[in-house]
Amino acid sequence: MTTLDCDVVVVGAGPAGLLLAGELRLGGAAVVVLERRTEPGTESRASTLHARTMEILDSRGLLDALGELPNDVRGHFGGIPLDLTLPTPYPGQWKIPQTGTEAALREWALSLGAELRTGHEVTGVHTGPDGVTAQAVADGRTVGVRARYLVACDGEDSTVRRLTGAAFPGDAARRELVRADVAGIDIPARRFQRLPRGLAVAARNAQGVTRVMAHEFGSAAGERTGAPVFAEIRDLWQRLTGEDIGHGRPLWVNTFADAARQVAQYRDGRVLFAGDAAHQQMPIGGQALNLGLQDAANLGWKLALQVAGRAPDGLLDSYHTERHAVGSRALGNIRAQAMLLMGGPEVEPVRAVVAELVREEPVRAHLAAMICGLDIRYDTGPGDHPLLGHRLAHGQRGHGSRGLLLPHPGAPGPAETWRHALAPWSDRVDLVPGGGAGTAVPEPGAAVLVRPDGHVVWAGPEGGGQDDGAGLRTALRRWFGEPEAPDGPYALTDAPARTPARTESPAPAAGAPSPTPSQERDAGMSRFTGKTALVTGSSRGIGRAIALRLAREGALVAVHSSRGGEAADDVVTSIEKDGGRAFAVRAELGVPGDADALFLDLEQGLKERTGTTDLDILVNNAGIMGGGVAADATTPEQFDRLFAVNAKAPFFLIQRALGNLTDGGRVVNITSGLTHFANPEEIAYAMTKGAVEQLALHFAKYLAPRGITINSVAPGITRNDNPVFGIPEAVEQMAALSAFGRVGEPRDVADVVAFLASEDARWITGAFLDATGGTLLG
Ligand code: NAP
Repeated sequence: MTTLDCDVVVVGAGPAGLLLAGELRLGGAAVVVLERRTEPGTESRASTLHARTMEILDSRGLLDALGELPNDVRGHFGGIPLDLTLPTPYPGQWKIPQTGTEAALREWALSLGAELRTGHEVTGVHTGPDGVTAQAVADGRTVGVRARYLVACDGEDSTVRRLTGAAFPGDAARRELVRADVAGIDIPARRFQRLPRGLAVAARNAQGVTRVMAHEFGSAAGERTGAPVFAEIRDLWQRLTGEDIGHGRPLWVNTFADAARQVAQYRDGRVLFAGDAAHQQMPIGGQALNLGLQDAANLGWKLALQVAGRAPDGLLDSYHTERHAVGSRALGNIRAQAMLLMGGPEVEPVRAVVAELVREEPVRAHLAAMICGLDIRYDTGPGDHPLLGHRLAHGQRGHGSRGLLLPHPGAPGPAETWRHALAPWSDRVDLVPGGGAGTAVPEPGAAVLVRPDGHVVWAGPEGGGQDDGAGLRTALRRWFGEPEAPDGPYALTDAPARTPARTESPAPAAGAPSPTPSQERDAGMSRFTGKTALVTGSSRGIGRAIALRLAREGALVAVHSSRGGEAADDVVTSIEKDGGRAFAVRAELGVPGDADALFLDLEQGLKERTGTTDLDILVNNAGIMGGGVAADATTPEQFDRLFAVNAKAPFFLIQRALGNLTDGGRVVNITSGLTHFANPEEIAYAMTKGAVEQLALHFAKYLAPRGITINSVAPGITRNDNPVFGIPEAVEQMAALSAFGRVGEPRDVADVVAFLASEDARWITGAFLDATGGTLLG
C-alpha cells in the first residue's frame, strides 16, 4: 500500500470540500482532497448563494472569479414570497450553477497548493492514535493517504459516514419533490404555484434550460433505488398543469425529499464531517449548499491552527458545538417550509397566517436573516457587547485565514498601541488600523477582534492605553492560542518591548560595502525625502535591505510581507529607531484579490501619514524559489503557484498601482541571474523571472509619457535566511560563482535598486541590470 502524508485529507471535492481545502491552505496546512469522480460534475445542482456565503467568499477575494451573478431579493418561506433585503453588502439570492461555484473554488484551492486526487474512491478509514488513513481505490490500485485529520465532505450519501459507522439520527423522508432540468421546452414560469392537485415550479435560466419541480399532494416519498426517469415527471407535470413537456430533452432528473438528519458528532476524534455529509435536509431555497460552505469556513482555520500545534484547548471541538446547533436550527426551518410547501389543502389556513405575518417588518427581517445565515450568533465568550458572536461584514478582502483587530477610525492613541497589544499574536492576527470604518463598530475608540470566519470574539474600548487590555488578551488566547512570547509588556505600553530587532544582513565579507546609517546620512544621502515607497516582501532578505536603504535616504516605506509574524514589524522598528518612517502592510500574494488587498492596506497607511495615496517607488521584490525540484518532478500545482506569486502578482500590482504612481515615479522588479544562467533544477522558477523581465520591456513604453521608469534588477546568489548560508562549504561553492569570490549581500542588491529609484537613473528604463557580482560573466 502506498502511503502519502499530509496534515488533512478531505474526502469529496464538492463546494464544501474545496472551500475547506483552500481555507486549510490559507492556514498553512498540507491538504490532499480525494474525489471519486474523474471529471468535475456537470449538473447544475444547487444554484443559490445567500448573503452570508457571499460575504465569506468576498472576504477570500473569490467573488471576481464567480463573475457577474444575477441577484434577486425576492425569496420565499415555504413558497410564501419573502423579501430578503437585509443590511449586508449582498442582500438576496445570487444565482450560479453549482458547476460555476465548484470551478472557482477548485481553481482557488489548487492555486493555494491543495492537492486534488480525482478518480479516488474511498474504501476504508482507519484511525490510530497519531493519525488517520484514508484508503482509496484508484485505477484498480489501493492507495492510502495518511493524515492527522480527515474531513468527510462527501455529500448526503457519505461513504465516510458509512465506513466509520457515525450515528446519523433524524427523521426519514415523508414527501418528495421530483425535479428535472429540461432543454427545448417553452412553458410559463411558475413560482411555487399551488394547483388543485399539487405544487408546480418552473423557471428558465439564462442558458434556456427550464428547471421544473413538482409534488402531488398526499403522495408519499417512494422507496427509490435510483433517480426517477423523465417519463415520471413528464406524466406528473401533465397531471398537475395540463402542459406537455415530453418533447423536451432532460439534462438531469432527480428527486429531493424532506428527510432531516444530522451526524451526532461533527467531530469524532480525528474524523470530522462537513456539508451534506454532516446534515441531510431538503435543499429548499439553496440552504443546504450555503450551510455546507459555512461549515467549511467555520472549520478551516480551526483545523489549520490545530495541525500547526497552536490551537487552544477546545477550539476544534467548538466546530461541533457551533455548527451542530446552526445545522439543527436550519433543519428546523426547512422542515417547517417543507410542510408549508408540500402540505395539501389542509395547510392553507397556516399559509394564510404566515403570509399575513411576513408583512410585519420584524417577522420578515427575522425570517430573511434566518434563511440568509445572517442571524447566526456563536457563544464567543463573556461580555454583553451587541456585536459579540455575530458576524461582522467588515469588507476586509483577501485576509485569508487570519484574525483581524479592527479599531474604529476614531480610536484614540496611535495604531502602534494596538499593534503592541497584538504583537505576540501577530503571526495569527492582523491589525487593520481604522479597519472598523464602514462597519457596525459602534463608538469611536472601540475596536473589535474578528475570527477568520468573520465572527466577533471581542469588542471593547480597552487597548489604546485605556486599561490593562486583559479582556483582549483573554479573547486572543481563547481563539488563537498562546502567544509566541510572554505578552505582559506588549499590551500596556507604547514601549516596544519586543524581541530585539534583527540586525542588518550578516557581517559582509571582505570587500563588501558597509557604510553605517549615520555615515550615509552624513554623506548627505537623502535622495528620497518626501517620497513614498512600497517594497513587496521586505520582511527579510533582499527586500528588507531595500526597505532599510530607501528609508535611510528619507522615503516613507511600506514594509510588505505575506502573513506577518514579527519580521515586518521588526523592519519597521529598525527604520524608526534610525529616525526613518515606515509602516507594515500584509497581504498574501499569488491568491485571488491579492493586489487589491495589498493596496487597500497600503492606501490606508499612506493616507494616515501623508494625506494622499500617492506612491513614488514600487519595488516588486517578493518571490518564492522553486525549491530545487528536478524538471521531471515539478508538478502543475507547484508551477502555477510559482507563476502566481512571482509573475502574476507583480503584473497586477503594477496595474493596481497605475492610479497611485506619481509622474516621474519608479518601478523596479527583482528578477534573477537564472534568466541568463542555466540551472535545470530551477526551470519553472527561472521561467517566472523571465516573464517578469518582460514587464520592464513592455511597460517602459507605456509608462514613459509620465516620466515613470521601470527596470529589472537580477541578483545572483544572495545571502538570505536560507540555512544553506550557515554551511561554510556550501557558501564557498556558491561564492566561487561570482567574479568577486563571495556571495552577494542583500545590501549589494539594495544599492542597485536605490540607484534605479533615484533621480540619477532617470534616463534608464526597460533595462535589465545584472546585479550578480559577475556571475554571468561565465
Ligand atoms: P526571502 O528571504 O525568501 O524573502 C521573501 C520575501 O517575500 C519575504 O518578505 C516574504 O514574506 C515575501 N513573500 C514570499 N512569498 C510571498 C507571498 N506569497 N506573498 C507575499 N509575500 C511573499 O527572499 P530573498 O532571497 O530576499 O529574495 C527576494 C527576491 O529576490 C525574490 O524575488 C527572489 O526570487 C529574488 N532573488 C533572490 C536570490 C537569492 O539568492 N536570495 C537570487 C536571485 C533572485 P514573509 O516574510 O511573509 O514570508
